[in-house]
Amino acid sequence: MSHSWARGSTRRWRKLRLAVLTRDHWTCQLCHKPIDPAIRHPHPMSAHVHHLDGKAYGDDPDRCVASHRQCNLDAGDPTAAADPAPRPMTRW
Ligand SMILES: [Zn+2]
Repeated sequence: MSHSWARGSTRRWRKLRLAVLTRDHWTCQLCHKPIDPAIRHPHPMSAHVHHLDGKAYGDDPDRCVASHRQCNLDAGDPTAAADPAPRPMTRW
C-alpha cells in the first residue's frame, strides 16, 4: 500500500523524481547542500526524493523534496516514525 511508488510505476516515479530534483535545483532540501547527479545509489550522497508527509500520502510532487539518500534516511518517514516534527537539519 504505502510502497506503490516502487511497484510497477517506475517510469512515472523516475519522471516525478527528476521533476522534483530539477525543481529543487539538485539541492538537498534537508541539509541544503548540492546533490551530484553523477553519484549513484546506494551512495549516501546520491539523489533521493524525500516525502514530506511520508510515502503513504503518495507521490504528490508538492509534498516531495530533493534530498541526499543519507539525509532522507536520517529524516525517516513521518507516517512511520514516532517523532512527527519536521526538523531543521542544520547539524552539518
Ligand atoms: Zn542532504
